[in-house]
Amino acid sequence: MTVALKPGSPAASGCLDAPILRERGQREVFCGLTGIIWLHRKIQDAFFLIVGSRTCAHLMQSAAGVMIFAEPRFATAIIEDRDLAGLSDANDELDRVVERLLARRPDIKLLFLVGSCPSEVIKLDLSRAAARLSQRYTPDVRILNYSGSGIETTFTQGEDNCLASLVPTLPEADADTPSLLVAGTIADVVEDQLCRLFEGLGMPAPAFLPARRAGDQPRVGPGTRFLLAQPYLPETARLLEARGATRLAAPFPLGADGTTEWLRAAADAFGVSEERFQAVTERPRARAVAALQHHRAALEGRSIFFFPDSQLEIPLARFLSQELGMRPVEVGTPYLHRGIMDPELALLPHGTRLSEGQDVDRQLARCRADAPDLVVCGLGLANPLEAEGMATKWSIELVFTPVQGYEQAGDLAGLFSRPLDRRTRLEV
Ligand code: SF4
Repeated sequence: MTVALKPGSPAASGCLDAPILRERGQREVFCGLTGIIWLHRKIQDAFFLIVGSRTCAHLMQSAAGVMIFAEPRFATAIIEDRDLAGLSDANDELDRVVERLLARRPDIKLLFLVGSCPSEVIKLDLSRAAARLSQRYTPDVRILNYSGSGIETTFTQGEDNCLASLVPTLPEADADTPSLLVAGTIADVVEDQLCRLFEGLGMPAPAFLPARRAGDQPRVGPGTRFLLAQPYLPETARLLEARGATRLAAPFPLGADGTTEWLRAAADAFGVSEERFQAVTERPRARAVAALQHHRAALEGRSIFFFPDSQLEIPLARFLSQELGMRPVEVGTPYLHRGIMDPELALLPHGTRLSEGQDVDRQLARCRADAPDLVVCGLGLANPLEAEGMATKWSIELVFTPVQGYEQAGDLAGLFSRPLDRRTRLEV
């Protein structure tokens, strides 16, 4: 069940009825394994065991290279040629790897077996493997599985699959006690700031999915109202709703306005008065607006083009146009989930070109024709576009950096003003 936008909200305007260019060509996007880079930092006693190839191991090591200096919480069980040729039993080998890992690392309380392209190709059934291993290691270690394969997932979909695998395991909440849940990985510091705001509003302390520790995962049930902190979690949202929880529709907490509307959705659901809402949000909101002002001169009136990558594109375009006066010319997203994105689309400037999916050559041609001031794209496209004279922003940075909430609004704007500033200096 979903709580609808209130009457009088700006739902009648913006891009709600805009045509969507649907592209089904070649993609230039990371696979869902990438989500492990932020998920392993969040759930502090979890371990992510990728069942994949040397390519998967190299991707993870170069994308999260800094972790080689610490005791890592992810690794790759390499599927060798003899496994691919069916000459050995991959299940037996996987069991041995897990046994060695858990014997050496008693701190692991939650183990994810993460599927990849190679495990899919040899049709290794990781859900059966997780069930088999769970029998052996429960209650000391919970073992779950999800897919991060590039055949099935793009970039941020890995987090959706990971959280979706957790939802059926969440304990049942008391149906008569209303509770608030925030779904989607956000930095601990942002979580703490949000908790203080909810406390000021006199609301129940929110639970977070995922929680910082495996044993503290939130309860869920018909009394649960939940907010998505990230836009790329449709399957997690669907499963939470199947458990009886109610999603609170709202723009995402990016920028001063986005954060206010996101908090307001929860405040309305819990009957917080307008006076109290204003009293609690007024000062942090003013701080956020002031922080944004520092970047307005660099961004106002400048055009921006989003290649589809992280699924954050539409909320970011809304933030940049609504709060900083930028002009989104094309906003591409790998997938467009209307139920989740409608509050954002309602706030996008009318006439913004929207595209879903990717046909990279056609999109590059549109981008060159538009000649935007700034291009947001994946790593693979950024260097060639820079060589052509365009200013670019790596979309992966927007996922790794804490950007949600009032206190991060200025930092978020800075991620877009810096590349423009750098280019201006280079030109000078
Ligand atoms: Fe490459 Fe597939 Fe492994 Fe991702 S899962 S690194 S796309 S082989």
